[in-house]
Amino acid sequence: MIDFRIEPELQAKLDWMATFVRAECEPMDMLFPGHGAPYDVANAEARAHLKPLQDRVKAQGLWACHLGAELGGPGYGQLTLALMNEILGRSYWAPTVFGTAAPDTGNSEILAMFGTKEQKERYLQPLMDGEIVSCFSMTEPQAGADPKEFTCRAWREGDEWVIEGEKWFSSNARFAAFLIAMVVTNPENPPHERMSMLIVPTDTPGVEFVRHSQTMGDSKGQDDGTHAYIRYDKVRVPLDAMLGGPGEGFKVAQARLGGGRVHHAMRTVGKCQRAIDMMLERAVSRRTQGKPLSEHQFVQGAIADSIIELEQFRLLVLKTAWIIDNEEHGAARTHIAMCKVQMAKVYHDIVQRAIQLHGSLGMTLETPLADMWMGLPAMALADGPTEVHKVQVANAHLRTARPAPGLFPSEHIPTRLAAIRERSVA
Ligand SMILES: Cc1cc2nc3c(=O)[nH]c(=O)nc-3n(C[C@H](O)[C@H](O)[C@H](O)COP(=O)(O)OP(=O)(O)OC[C@H]3O[C@@H](n4cnc5c(N)ncnc54)[C@H](O)[C@@H]3O)c2cc1C
Repeated sequence: MIDFRIEPELQAKLDWMATFVRAECEPMDMLFPGHGAPYDVANAEARAHLKPLQDRVKAQGLWACHLGAELGGPGYGQLTLALMNEILGRSYWAPTVFGTAAPDTGNSEILAMFGTKEQKERYLQPLMDGEIVSCFSMTEPQAGADPKEFTCRAWREGDEWVIEGEKWFSSNARFAAFLIAMVVTNPENPPHERMSMLIVPTDTPGVEFVRHSQTMGDSKGQDDGTHAYIRYDKVRVPLDAMLGGPGEGFKVAQARLGGGRVHHAMRTVGKCQRAIDMMLERAVSRRTQGKPLSEHQFVQGAIADSIIELEQFRLLVLKTAWIIDNEEHGAARTHIAMCKVQMAKVYHDIVQRAIQLHGSLGMTLETPLADMWMGLPAMALADGPTEVHKVQVANAHLRTARPAPGLFPSEHIPTRLAAIRERSVA
């Protein structure tokens, strides 16, 4: 049975979150701006603001909501998490305040799933407590969308792994206590079994930052880039630094990427809603041609399109969350790909319309719309480009398709009519 109502107990939690995010997290966005700010554990002033807020979240039982009970979290499930993440999506500090910031979420999940007791104690616990941040180091300068092209490798020497190669766009590496590096350890294996994950403390000798690439929205000329180009120059880690088994890197990566994508989609629902809220306020505040913007049909069309597209996208995200909660592991793969594709498109279209309705003000850095606009390209690239996910959706359905039985399609009306007439004559 499909029931869209929310239980009063959960609604009370969501209401608390919505008020808290607006009153406490959105101000953090303005007081401590910048993509890297929530991850900068060395910024004492920001951390002093953050800690009491995190304590209030913990007291509400809302800390690290992405983790199931078996992994040490509250275990709300993905559907409840979707409703929560919608609220957190409004502020870029909010996920850090609530202990659900990517990439630490995905990294804590794979540590919980594949980590040894020692790895959990050393890395997972401080990560879950919000004391440190981490980095997922997978993409390479020459290859991103296709991991089979990766060349950064590691080989065994005595009781150590030695890592040699380069990684690109290792987000937040400059703030991270450790890197989870995906490296080729078994080149002789089939492509999906060649790589392994190694946990590398960031201060290990041989970890060299070539640079921290800046992206749109970072301030030109300042060293505030957060996406590290890393050279692993014969970096040595002990044998027990491996997360999962040799050759299991692909499997471990898949375990974290699916969740990461759908969590981004959940937060994007909240970002879109924020842009729509701004459109609505603007439409009833601003006048032109003797009447408010809200009475012009082009404006009404832009608002209606945005509301309809967001409702469709939100239902897709909620259904995906439901599948993850209720069906077997992996059943939501195609739906997650659909969310990933649609997230980039819907967010782009809604933010573009919101900027247009704000006129020149929409182009300034004086509203949250500028940050949203700068973040658009990342939606279609991070965690895999749109094209790759479209191919996945199409192939999942093409696999079930069968060729037409004759010259014409099975829906060809003259052919069907002839068959029906033949049947009735017989
Ligand atoms: C904001 C941001 C944060 C990121 N953070 C991290 C991180 O923390 N760790 C990490 O390891 N990586 C990270 N990445 C890297 C990300 O995973 C890659 O950008 C992504 O996988 C694409 O790889 P690429 O950039 O090398 O693009 P390429 O592989 O060079 O692809 C370029 C383009 O080619 C086209 N294309 C590629 N494959 C196909 C295909 N099969 N069919 C049709 N067209 C195709 C697409 O248009 C694609 O955009 C991040 C990226 C962004 C933008």
